[in-house]
Amino acid sequence: MRTINVTQITKTIKEMCIEANHYLTPDMKKALENAADNEKTPLGKQILNQLQENLKIAGDDMIPICQDTGMAVIFMEIGQDVHFEGGTLEDAINEGVRQGYTDGFLRKSVVKDPLIRENTKDNTPAIIHYEITAGEHVKITVAPKGFGSENMSRVFMLKPADGIDGVKDVILTAVKDAGPNACPPMVVGVGIGGTFEKCALMAKKALTRPINEHSDISYIKELEEELLDKINRTGIGPGGLGGTTTALAVNINTYPTHIAGLPVAVNICCHVNRHAVRIL
Ligand code: SF4
Repeated sequence: MRTINVTQITKTIKEMCIEANHYLTPDMKKALENAADNEKTPLGKQILNQLQENLKIAGDDMIPICQDTGMAVIFMEIGQDVHFEGGTLEDAINEGVRQGYTDGFLRKSVVKDPLIRENTKDNTPAIIHYEITAGEHVKITVAPKGFGSENMSRVFMLKPADGIDGVKDVILTAVKDAGPNACPPMVVGVGIGGTFEKCALMAKKALTRPINEHSDISYIKELEEELLDKINRTGIGPGGLGGTTTALAVNINTYPTHIAGLPVAVNICCHVNRHAVRIL
C-alpha cells in the first residue's frame, strides 16, 4: 500500500492547470504544423499559421492560448493500492484548480448554479472522473474544456439497425452542425456503445488520446481515417472560413452495449485541444 498526501495532488493539479492553458502537447503542435503545410487554400493556410504564432506567444509570454480557459475536466486513474491522507481527494483536486486558475490568472468561467448563474470566481468545481486501476500509481489528466466546442457536442441514441452507416451519418451531422462555432480545426472525440452516459464519457476521454494514435481495433481505425477524410471534405476549414483542414483527428472509443441500442456521443474540441498528463 502506497500513501500519498493530498497536498501533492493539489500542487500537481495547480501546475497542470497552468501548463495545459499555455502549452499544447507535442502531438497537437505537430498536427497544427502539418495542417499548415498541407492546407490547400491560402486563407486557410494563413489562419493555421496565425494559430501557430498564437501558440508560440502563449508559451513565450505566458498568455493563455485562448481567452476561454475552460472548465477543468480531470481524469483520475487511481491504483487500487494507493491510500490518500491529509484530507479528502475531492477537496484537494478542487483546491488545485482554485490555485491554478487564481495564481495563473486564468479566466474563471464556472457558475455555481446553472440557472441562477453566479460565478464561483475560482473556476471550481472541477468535473472529476475517477477510475480505479491496478497498482500503486495515480495518473492525472487535466483537460480544460472550452464551451464554444462543448456546446456543439451531441449524444445520439441510435437503433442497432442504423449500423455503421448510421454512426457515420450522425458524426458527420454533428460536425457540420458545429461548423465555425467549434473553432476549427477540430478534434472529434467519439464514444460508441455503452449507455447514454458511458458513451459521452468515452467521447470526452477520446479527446485526450494522442491525436497521432489510432484505435487498436482495426475496423475502428479505418472508421477514424474515413471520417477524418470526409470531415475535411466538408469545406468548413480553419476558423470556419473555408479550406481543406476542418479536423485534425477523429478519435473513437468503443464499449459493449445492450442488444436494443447503439449509443453514439460526439464530443467536439476546438484547435485548443488542451490536456496535461502526469503520473505520480
Ligand atoms: S472553443 Fe476553443 S478556441 Fe473557441 S473560444 Fe472556446 S476554448 Fe477558445
